[in-house]
Amino acid sequence: MIYDLAVVGLGAIGTFAVRAAATKGLTVAGFDAHHPPHAHGSTHGSTRLIRAIYSEGPYYVPLIRSAIAAWDEVNAEAGRPLYHATGAHYFAPRSHPDLEAAIATAEDGGLELVRVSDVPGIALPADWDAVFDPLGGFIEVESTLAFVQDESSRQSGVAAFLGEEVSYAFDGELWELTRKNTASKVRAKSLAVCPGPWAAQMLPFLKDHLRLERHTLHWSESGTSATGESQGFTPFLSHLENGEWIYGFPADENGLVKIAEHKFGKSCKSISEVDRDVYPSDRKVIADFAERFIPNIGAITRSSVCPYTMSPDGDFIIDHLPGGSNAAFVAGLSGHGYKFAPALGRIVTELAVDGSADLDVSAFRLGRFG
Ligand SMILES: Cc1cc2nc3c(=O)[nH]c(=O)nc-3n(C[C@H](O)[C@H](O)[C@H](O)COP(=O)(O)OP(=O)(O)OC[C@H]3O[C@@H](n4cnc5c(N)ncnc54)[C@H](O)[C@@H]3O)c2cc1C
Repeated sequence: MIYDLAVVGLGAIGTFAVRAAATKGLTVAGFDAHHPPHAHGSTHGSTRLIRAIYSEGPYYVPLIRSAIAAWDEVNAEAGRPLYHATGAHYFAPRSHPDLEAAIATAEDGGLELVRVSDVPGIALPADWDAVFDPLGGFIEVESTLAFVQDESSRQSGVAAFLGEEVSYAFDGELWELTRKNTASKVRAKSLAVCPGPWAAQMLPFLKDHLRLERHTLHWSESGTSATGESQGFTPFLSHLENGEWIYGFPADENGLVKIAEHKFGKSCKSISEVDRDVYPSDRKVIADFAERFIPNIGAITRSSVCPYTMSPDGDFIIDHLPGGSNAAFVAGLSGHGYKFAPALGRIVTELAVDGSADLDVSAFRLGRFG
């Protein structure tokens, strides 16, 4: 059988690429070296922040609008909230450039944003700014992927090859995926490569543009803090004096509050060399933040490591493969890609299958690096 589309990598982006292809009525073969959702790549750790206001650039606003509409659809299909539309709070020392940039982007993009003087559950210093983003919230990571994968697998014409590391080549007419385990080949008319932290191996032309960063996630006991969703505690992002961004989530069903750092990860050479151990210095950053801003929170009881795939400017890289108008990739998501997964999955599918995407992705082209 010759598939309309082959998708390599079924993490956050590839899962939604398969969904987009199936929705178009295409036949699609998805491949993953592991069994997603899994903890080897960049899509694990129970929750992801979704924020509509973006200091990173105005070109993210159409993506977030598209993604939020898609997350609403996922919720409707699931019959329960996988995307929790709780709103989100951002806070920073007065006139912090990162928060100011985010506010300016929201205003330019016509997004609603409310300046507030209190953040529920947070001890906000009197001389700090805070805003509420009504479109913000959080997404359940693994359960959402499992749900979407399960839904897609029911569509006729969708095949998933799991535990199957593949390589790809173009034979002049079709894309040929070689399955490492068996050396057997699967053929497709178009190709979407969504390799997450394996991008430097899967897309060697990106090698000089990508860098892996090790980041840590931590879960604290909620103690007697007011961190319950029912207490009005929302996901938050705080821009600190030293340039670090710390973000967190309401207590989960086990009473654990997830808090993580975003800016000061440690570079690593390759995905196989990411140090998965968590050290007291990793925990101290989060414990200090929690002690300062979240009254009565308990101790950190669990931690985890997850790699970011950094592009040189922190913006995504989305393009056709060199010389291949029927092949496209998404890479360099720089630690902020999950919230956009439905939009990015659709875009990479459209680029590969149709040659162009409905949404404007010119800001994300590889050519910007010269
Ligand atoms: C600690 C941490 C916190 C984050 N927080 C947020 C957040 O709050 N909000 C947000 O929006 N984003 C966040 N992100 C970023 C977001 O989670 C990632 O951008 C996104 O999940 C990456 O998805 P992906 O599909 O690109 O990669 P992955 O999910 O890692 O998937 C890549 C897949 O490709 C497969 N693969 C690779 N090579 C091959 C091959 N040769 N053959 C077959 N399969 C292959 C792998 O097995 C893997 O399953 C965070 C990331 C981390 C690490």
